[in-house]
Amino acid sequence: MNAPNTYRAQPDERGHFGQFGGRYVAETLMPLILELEREYRAAKADPAFAAQFDDLMNHYVGRPSPLYHAERLSEAVREGAGTGPNGERLGAQIWFKRDELNHTGAHKINNCIGQILLAIRMGKTRIIAETGAGQHGVATAAVCARFGLPCVIYMGAKDVERQQPNVFRMKLLGAEVRPVTSGAATLSDAMNEGLRDWVANVHDTFYIIGTAAGPHPYPELVRDFQSIIGREARAQMLERTGRLPDLLCAAIGGGSNAIGLFHPFLDDESVGMLGVEAAGHGLEGSEHAASLAGGFPGVLHGNKTYLLQDEDGQIAEGHSISAGLDYPGIGPEHAWLRDIGRVEYTSATDQDALDAFQLLCRTEGIIPALEPAHAIAAVTKRARTMRDDQIILANLCGRGDKDIFTVANALGVAI
Ligand SMILES: *Cc1c(COP(=O)(O)O)cnc(C)c1O
Repeated sequence: MNAPNTYRAQPDERGHFGQFGGRYVAETLMPLILELEREYRAAKADPAFAAQFDDLMNHYVGRPSPLYHAERLSEAVREGAGTGPNGERLGAQIWFKRDELNHTGAHKINNCIGQILLAIRMGKTRIIAETGAGQHGVATAAVCARFGLPCVIYMGAKDVERQQPNVFRMKLLGAEVRPVTSGAATLSDAMNEGLRDWVANVHDTFYIIGTAAGPHPYPELVRDFQSIIGREARAQMLERTGRLPDLLCAAIGGGSNAIGLFHPFLDDESVGMLGVEAAGHGLEGSEHAASLAGGFPGVLHGNKTYLLQDEDGQIAEGHSISAGLDYPGIGPEHAWLRDIGRVEYTSATDQDALDAFQLLCRTEGIIPALEPAHAIAAVTKRARTMRDDQIILANLCGRGDKDIFTVANALGVAI
């Protein structure tokens, strides 16, 4: 690493965070990857690029998103938390970064805006992307419509089946949705297909990757675009409370909303961080999507990281009630932050998430997506072990409209 005195290190010149990351891609892609990196460095140094990004964040996405003190949720969690060893009241104050209020309903749009501006800067005229639940596909289709670029979305055939409302949204926004039938016909296969298309069409095509994974420089640039979450939250928290939070918390699929929240705080020693993977039906079996808890290092989608895989390196299919969390890998920066001990990682089951989902609905009048419901589940547990003057800040990275059918089904309600 080039800056050993900081956790906010850049990856090295080949894109490694410690042993993780890198760019394991076909030779034909190397020139494009290098061009992308050059262009990204230039964009990063260009005030006009930042100004364009900020303008769209304010007026198209609706930023800054609010910072919200969830007082009734905090109170509900404090009830029954009791007192600590020195008689102090337990039950931390829970705050949310409200990224579910963004245009298209989640944090994904932050990254899509950044990448499409980069694509335009590079003179690319065709956009491709992969999607699982469809949230990244919808956000990509929206920015393509906004800039008048044709858009192809690769989506596992099984997900196309399961996520009809988002498939229709993408089509309304003018995207072509291509079902992928290889492998398990889900997110991981869609990403393989996206990389294949990119190899074949590098001359005019830009691949907008949806999470902080993929070959270098994607993990870094996705992190940088999503870091608007943490930068805003840090300033808002200081302004509202005069202090930094004690703990940050975010759900992890590939890790983009989490790294976006965490990164601007990494050098604040007093701030703890907790990433929450999807434990599905439990970590004992294979029905989960916890790559850190249940996987080991390997190479997938152009980078080295923790992966759900068998002893032969065959990628296992993740499971979670939340389609946005069932990616079999995790961004390489998280793998590194875990190994050096800067960020703590835990998991929440489908049932934990469902319980937290309902608790938030009833205490705060907010219907969250099932992804952040995993983070809320971990927050409610952790809050009971912290003092009532301590602060937890969780990223509410998506809203629940897309999930009401899944939740109704899980609760045995026919709608
Ligand atoms: C896609 C998605 C996720 C998972 O992706 P990350 O890259 O881990 O952030 C989490 N929450 C929501 C609402 C999503 O749409």
